[in-house]
Amino acid sequence: MSKYRVIDYYDLRPVDWLSGKRMPLEPGSGHVCDRCGAEHAVVYVVEDVESGKTYRVGSGCAKQSFGFDPEKNDESKKLIKSAKEEAATHVNELRLAAVQELARAIFKGIQRTGRPPVVFQGDAPFKYAHFPGQLVRTFTMGDAEATELQPSAGGGWHDSQTVELLIHRWISTRIEESIPKEWQSINVSPYSDRPRKNVTNMANECSRLVRNLLR
Ligand SMILES: [Zn+2]
Repeated sequence: MSKYRVIDYYDLRPVDWLSGKRMPLEPGSGHVCDRCGAEHAVVYVVEDVESGKTYRVGSGCAKQSFGFDPEKNDESKKLIKSAKEEAATHVNELRLAAVQELARAIFKGIQRTGRPPVVFQGDAPFKYAHFPGQLVRTFTMGDAEATELQPSAGGGWHDSQTVELLIHRWISTRIEESIPKEWQSINVSPYSDRPRKNVTNMANECSRLVRNLLR
């Protein structure tokens, strides 16, 4: 039984919330190793079980001074795992905060400018008619357009569904033009404290939030 045990672990490198990756440490912002005096980003806190004294060291010094390999030691593996989970939670919180902020801004932008009116553009003969004289009906809303085919001879239109689709399209365009493209490849969970629950990408989550706000 070793007289030393690992009681804590931390990684001082800042995490980039977009990529989720650790960034290099700024010189001077690391921990100065209790053993070798070098600056470390990754620090193990080792306790001398007999004296209760603690040492904050890098992984190389953990091996050389205290005789354990942080990569293989069960206690340190557990600590590393929980530190990684904590970092993932933090990254998710930051991503979610960015998503929520942009969603509110998009929502406010739509409220401020207002929605353009839905305009009936008329009926025109359908090129590939299934029955004689079949028409195609067009509605527009700003830059969005939606059409519907006359489902049966002599009428039976479904305007309300077409208008609903049109509004959906118009909103989609407003959302799409505001969300950074790279958000499509970045995961986020809507649960700030549970980074692995219901994971989607930041663009989807932002769009979902805007639609909720507009409801
Ligand atoms: Zn050291």
